[in-house]
Amino acid sequence: MDCDLVIAGAGPIGLATAIHACSRGLSAVVLDRRSSPEAKACGEGIMPRGRAALDAMGVSLPPLSFAAFPGIRFIDGASVAEARFHSGPGAGIPRTTLWRALAARAEAVGGTVELGAAVRNWTSGRDGIRVETDRGSLNARLLVGADGLHSRIRKLARLERPASRRRRFGVRQHFDIEPWTPFVEVHWSDGCEAYVTPVGPRSVGVAFLASGHGLRFADLRKRFPLLDERLAGATPRDRERGAGPFDQRTVRRYAARVALVGDAAGYVDPLTGEGLSLGFESARELVRTFTVGESLAAYDRAYRRAARIHVLLTKAMLSISARPTLRRWAIRQLALRPRLFEMFLAIHSNGTAAHIGTPSWPATRNAPAGGGRSAAGKPLHHSSARGPAR
Ligand SMILES: Cc1cc2nc3c(=O)[nH]c(=O)nc-3n(C[C@H](O)[C@H](O)[C@H](O)COP(=O)(O)OP(=O)(O)OC[C@H]3O[C@@H](n4cnc5c(N)ncnc54)[C@H](O)[C@@H]3O)c2cc1C
Repeated sequence: MDCDLVIAGAGPIGLATAIHACSRGLSAVVLDRRSSPEAKACGEGIMPRGRAALDAMGVSLPPLSFAAFPGIRFIDGASVAEARFHSGPGAGIPRTTLWRALAARAEAVGGTVELGAAVRNWTSGRDGIRVETDRGSLNARLLVGADGLHSRIRKLARLERPASRRRRFGVRQHFDIEPWTPFVEVHWSDGCEAYVTPVGPRSVGVAFLASGHGLRFADLRKRFPLLDERLAGATPRDRERGAGPFDQRTVRRYAARVALVGDAAGYVDPLTGEGLSLGFESARELVRTFTVGESLAAYDRAYRRAARIHVLLTKAMLSISARPTLRRWAIRQLALRPRLFEMFLAIHSNGTAAHIGTPSWPATRNAPAGGGRSAAGKPLHHSSARGPAR
């Protein structure tokens, strides 16, 4: 056996899977088809439970490389609704910063990260799985598909389910400008939402979500005069990047010696900004299930339980966003009743307003233990878990 886990995809969730695996004494090789997978279209707002997941993995971020946000602000015409998280702030983290921190942690706990090498195919056997990659084959106990929204592993394992007819896409860009608010702002308009995330002392990320192919950042920006005015004169830091269609469905999240995590496990829409948080938790739960010898079906059940509320809320918000009159009314109600908005955020973050601060997956069972080993079997020494500076 070359290693315990071969992980296809060195995005945040593939790297998180490697961190959890190596922290539990398993060996993991992460492969990415791209030679620089750091940057990707993303709103970059990590919710409090995702931030807690980073802390638990011992991922440390350089000070001033991200921005803590206390809550969410909705802006729809004259209505402005704002609510704070009960469970501590979220973090606006540029994807490149997040990627480097996760990759450094994965390697520090003994994971091997190989870039520019795609997973092509595999053969499952009784005792293991032989994974074919651009750099030859690897024998492992489990292949993890962490290969994103358009997962090849999901497709080859025949785990895909037809998506809805809704075809939403996203496009984002960064600007050199001092954030005008510490909150993540969501600007609503008919058929399009704009996410504004502070990601540093002088940097703001703007992501638009809308239906239809070929979205152009400059066109979408004009739909939001207030935002357009704020950004006037700000220098774009990078080129625009797009992603989608978002809606990707799975029949289940496992096949023989294959499991899916992160976006590969299924996705609805970035509207609720929970993709990374849910993905980190799915990585942790998969590794826990595998380590204690439970079946992959048990992982699948835990995934469905944890994702249920998130999927329901995202679909409800999509449905509201598609009905302008209802949307305007709903945001007016949230503006008039801030407690209602806070409850919504608490349910969104924790699955229930009654358990503010409690993660939806059991957290303590699988916090990384010290002393993993590398793919070569060498013992490792961990630094203690440190989270982002606040
Ligand atoms: C516009 C937009 C805004 C968003 N906003 C937020 C937000 O504010 N907060 C939040 O939490 N989430 C947000 N999300 C969602 C978040 O970006 C995703 O949930 C997250 O990136 C999923 O990570 P992942 O590791 O599963 O997949 P990815 O980040 O897509 O990584 C998958 C990796 O797999 C690699 N790969 C693909 N095929 C292969 C193969 N065959 N072999 C090897 N490697 C392969 C790819 O190169 C890629 O690097 C947003 C998404 C979009 C599009």
